[in-house]
Amino acid sequence: MISDLIVNIAILMSFTFIWHQIFQNNRLTFQSPILIKVLDGLIAGLLGIILMHYSIQVNADTILDLRHIPVILVSFFGGFLPTIVAAFVISIGRFFISYNLSAFVSLGMMIIVAIGASLISYKVKASNWKKWMILLFFSQFCFSVALYIVVTDYQAVLNYAFFHIISTIIGGILTFYFVLYIRRNTELFNLYKENSERDSLTGLYNVRSFDRYYNSMLAEAKSNHENCAICLFDIDYFKQINDTHGHPAGDEVIKQFALLLSQLTRNGDIVSRNGGEEFSVLLPGCSLLKAEEIAERIRMTAESRWFTLPNRDRIKLTVSAGIAVHDQTDDISDTDYLYQQADDALYKAKQNGRNRVMMATTTV
Ligand code: GH3
Ligand code: MG
Ligand code: MG
Repeated sequence: MISDLIVNIAILMSFTFIWHQIFQNNRLTFQSPILIKVLDGLIAGLLGIILMHYSIQVNADTILDLRHIPVILVSFFGGFLPTIVAAFVISIGRFFISYNLSAFVSLGMMIIVAIGASLISYKVKASNWKKWMILLFFSQFCFSVALYIVVTDYQAVLNYAFFHIISTIIGGILTFYFVLYIRRNTELFNLYKENSERDSLTGLYNVRSFDRYYNSMLAEAKSNHENCAICLFDIDYFKQINDTHGHPAGDEVIKQFALLLSQLTRNGDIVSRNGGEEFSVLLPGCSLLKAEEIAERIRMTAESRWFTLPNRDRIKLTVSAGIAVHDQTDDISDTDYLYQQADDALYKAKQNGRNRVMMATTTV
């Protein structure tokens, strides 16, 4: 019996890990789309069926296992829908093992567990662990009542129920600890990844990401024999905005211009904040004409719209831009040259009076 318990717990943990890996970007929550809830319910049901196949044989008709744990697990994270799907799948699987009174009692038990666990998940306002322990004891209680109905030898019921309760507690605590642990680690990993790739003020890519995308855009352009372009933007006389309206107003302007950049570039263009009020747009597969059109549209939109400050005042501003295009015939040896050319073009735009887009004059 001990080895059966260990096998059941090992299946629970390993299956839970694979389940989490597959759904790590679509993790089950109360707000998940219906499809995700149904899929999680099906997987929980499948896990229940596997657990039943490694169950403890009480007598010729009755088996004991931890099939209720996947059901309360999806109930805890996803509410009613995945729970009822899981219970349904497990009940069908139970009938495939044997078609007898035990299977019918198991069906009734599963329905009661699913409804009760969903109610507990929705209604009970307690800490994660308290709620989980309530779910564990509730489902175990239902299982023990089912056992009492199908086994007539009461001494056997007592023996098995005791063993089953211990299994549920150990298996339930370990599984929940494991699930919380991998969920929390994934959340932290995503958060740190986001922080290391993005600029915190605007949500655009930061310089580190820009470097990575810049190099890979050039490498791809070279291997695919394609054009690509880079466009640098700098807000004109930004220091005056800070000096006149304050630093928070400057920040707000930066955020609004960042949003404008994201909205006016194409899907697949990489928009970064390279520092202060300087931004860049990487334009893979882009011709000179198209790059100029995009940059000009951004410049004109910035010029024509109002920027709203935190105190509700509205101001006007202009931006300058420098563009450089890598032609497919260019032979790249120095990868910095394109950026350098765009920077020179931006400098010229400033020199020539600002509020304009300048193209790099030479390539390579
Ligand atoms: P130009 O037209 O030549 O670009 O002039 P400018 O005033 O825009 O450029 P300058 O480089 O002289 O000033 C940029 C200012 O941006 C100086 C700096 O204090 C400010 N700045 C840099 N980073 C931030 C930031 O994150 N928030 C705010 N509010 N200001 C910033
Ligand atoms: Mg500036
Ligand atoms: Mg600047």
